[in-house]
Amino acid sequence: MRSWTAVAVNDLSKAFDFPQLRLTDSASTTKKPLSQKDLYRLYVCGITPYDATHLGHAATYLSFDLIHRYLVAGGSKVDYVQNITDIDEPLLERANRDGVEWENLATEQIDLFRNDMAALNVLPPTHYIGAIEAIPLVIEAIDHLSDKKSTYQIDQDIYFSVKDDPKFASISHLKDQDMVEIFSQRGGDPTLSGKKDPLDCLVWMLQRPNEPAWSSSYGLGRPGWHIECTAIALHYLSPDPTLETLIDIQGGGSDLIFPHHEMCAAQARVITGRELASHYVHAGMIGLDGEKMSKSKGNLVFVSSLLSSGVDPFSIRWALMSDHFRRDRMWSQEKLSAADIEVQRLRTALKCQDFAPTDNLISCILESLANDLDTQTIVSEVNRWVDKTLNGDTGGDKRQIVSVLENLLGFSTVK
Ligand code: ZN
Repeated sequence: MRSWTAVAVNDLSKAFDFPQLRLTDSASTTKKPLSQKDLYRLYVCGITPYDATHLGHAATYLSFDLIHRYLVAGGSKVDYVQNITDIDEPLLERANRDGVEWENLATEQIDLFRNDMAALNVLPPTHYIGAIEAIPLVIEAIDHLSDKKSTYQIDQDIYFSVKDDPKFASISHLKDQDMVEIFSQRGGDPTLSGKKDPLDCLVWMLQRPNEPAWSSSYGLGRPGWHIECTAIALHYLSPDPTLETLIDIQGGGSDLIFPHHEMCAAQARVITGRELASHYVHAGMIGLDGEKMSKSKGNLVFVSSLLSSGVDPFSIRWALMSDHFRRDRMWSQEKLSAADIEVQRLRTALKCQDFAPTDNLISCILESLANDLDTQTIVSEVNRWVDKTLNGDTGGDKRQIVSVLENLLGFSTVK
């Protein structure tokens, strides 16, 4: 599927010292360094194309954009894959509810998402892959699971035996009973009769009345969600057989830890015998004015609405950067307004003839990003530097600080 407009990120590794990136890994529950590499493999779970792009999405993709930028600016190559679940239950339900064709809803929402990502200056993935176009890969992955005798049929649907993976639950660390409860809340079917284990997950769903379907050796049907990401990651990220893990980072919002990432990792381990990712990285959830932001509450804030009301896209990035990416946090108009004032002051400072000293600020930005994306420190240190510059302090290097802001933080001098 077509991605969005590429943005060049310069290699700054000759100009500055890039500390090794340390990120909190949900599986080990530690902040651990990524190995030093020339090529990183990054997979971030994409949207199901309805309700795009709300601020929860923006917060997640911005966080991984900062990681992506840091690695590229640090002189490495990043193969970045993101999927779009362009066929799934929630999309069909929404299309039915609104009386529109599901294909039209998906196309419109994917376009909206691309425009929002481009406006927010989020680097596009190397491969942007839809579930529908990945169906042959999904079938291949189910074949591999079947070869290992890890699938079974209920009626004509195909299920994966999650407990065939001895490391199942090593990302979420949840007890069985809690997993069953969350699985049921997040689209799973733990009580379905015929299941060997309540947590076993659907990998191929036989066609239901009035629903779209694709032909396969398992019959006319469509892929399950978890196997979609496993198949796309294994294919498009071409894991190096000499490495211990298949990819470097699997990422997404914290609501994906269980069941989604647990299921994907289990499928990948059964297929390949190797760990899926060295780092499972998760962004916190975004609430609004003290409440959880959700489609059921009808309080989603959309990036496109903010942009069409004239909000500076970098102010959205800045407001999201004012909290730590892993934390569940609140969004509010006040937070956006405060961020916008700071961003406009930054733009004014960047028009000054002389700048306050920039060496310490640049080191601080690099060290803070490397420290599990400590963007709060970056926001407060940039604000202090803006104050000094506007107060007439001198001695800074304009070219260097602009380059760091643009390449690492996604700042654009053009609004
Ligand atoms: Zn996924």
